[in-house]
Amino acid sequence: MPFKLPELPWPKDALSPYISAETIEYHYGKHHLAYVNNLNTLVNGTALESESLEMLFSKPEKLPADKKNAIFNNAAQVYNHTFYWKCLTPKAGNLSDGNLLELIKKNFGSFDSFKEKFSDTAVKLFGSGWAWLVKNADGSLAVEPTSNADNPLAHGKSPLLTCDVWEHAYYIDYRNARAEYVKSFWNCINWDFVQNQL
Ligand code: MN
Repeated sequence: MPFKLPELPWPKDALSPYISAETIEYHYGKHHLAYVNNLNTLVNGTALESESLEMLFSKPEKLPADKKNAIFNNAAQVYNHTFYWKCLTPKAGNLSDGNLLELIKKNFGSFDSFKEKFSDTAVKLFGSGWAWLVKNADGSLAVEPTSNADNPLAHGKSPLLTCDVWEHAYYIDYRNARAEYVKSFWNCINWDFVQNQL
């Protein structure tokens, strides 16, 4: 099969108590895996199987019309989840210095204003989707939501940090309380990874 479920960067119980092993078992072991399997079924035996994931959701004009949405959705969700796992770590610290912090201060005024804007975007996103910190083509940073599988790369922006706010990311641990999940998310951010995306 052309696309594989990547290894998690940490053991399934590593993010507990913020994100439980049971959530990871479902979110990674069932949801992420399903996107990989669906994508493989869609592209297997076609010229698309040798393409990169990024191409499959950044160049929709290259996709066959009858499978365009399905390929876009599954390829973007494979990418988004792999990116999300890398944004998380059991060894989360604070973003205390460096280029990223300087850029955050320049674009949002302070780290706390950025945190508030990102959290607010994540909590208020209607339906399923993702909250992102992105770098625009002009080098400025922005916080924005995407719906469903959509991804900033498909709009010419570089993702730096993401929070999955599909209900499957938090219902086991937080029921319907998305705001509580988003609050916990801040205890799990891998700032080294985020900074390296600049
Ligand atoms: Mn998800």
